[in-house]
Amino acid sequence: MNNMREKILDPTFDYSQPWFYSNKLALRCELGIGQGKEYFDNALERAMKIANILFENKKIDAAFYLEYFIDGKACEVGNFGITIDEVINLDMDVLHSIDLIDEDVETVKRYISFDVDFAVFERIIKKQIDNQYSPLVSFVSFDDQFIFSVYDDRGCDIVFFSENKYIEFYPKLEGYFLDYDREKMKETLGSICHECDECGSKFIKTKSQMMSLCPECAHILYGYEKCKHQFKDGKCELCHWDGSRSDYIKKLVENNK
Ligand SMILES: [Zn+2]
Ligand SMILES: [Zn+2]
Repeated sequence: MNNMREKILDPTFDYSQPWFYSNKLALRCELGIGQGKEYFDNALERAMKIANILFENKKIDAAFYLEYFIDGKACEVGNFGITIDEVINLDMDVLHSIDLIDEDVETVKRYISFDVDFAVFERIIKKQIDNQYSPLVSFVSFDDQFIFSVYDDRGCDIVFFSENKYIEFYPKLEGYFLDYDREKMKETLGSICHECDECGSKFIKTKSQMMSLCPECAHILYGYEKCKHQFKDGKCELCHWDGSRSDYIKKLVENNK
């Protein structure tokens, strides 16, 4: 489960703005709502609520930010009061190929800190919403395989690297979604998730050998390979089946006992 760690340590891994539009499994949430002071209070409050949903046990595995160097000098010096554990020189060919950086920039480095204290995280987020901190810091969960980044007081992006985790967090964050991008998120969810014709449970498309049936129903009805379900919070972590059974399947299961 350490592929997130490998990702952020990989010089060819590209994580540049706009995160939401550059990544398939992304969610965009709205922060600032209202006017004046209320707007900023809301932005901070919502950011922390979202953070508490994402980092449920307040465990932040890593934080990172990028520094751009011109003539040997960093364009914006990050000073966040966090210990930097790794500095990675990013692959300039990769960055140029996606056309996101100036010709003048000769080096881009990713500064990484592991095991970030939640209080430190909170302080950084607050400063970033107030626009006092730059460059932007992103926060990573290795277990839940996502990167959380606040772009400014208007909103934040969460990019997932697991379909399962995307489906898991989608309903938890739905109430915070930015309306403008809601359709795109719905489409993404629809593209990875199907509803089973037999039991009605949602399941991950790629985990079933049948288009219209979840792995459980496909196994019982047609003998396809069984998912070795791993249940957590009422859902299988592998295929996302929620344990639903149609009356017909219930009868079959009963008769086979
Ligand atoms: Zn089913
Ligand atoms: Zn399963």
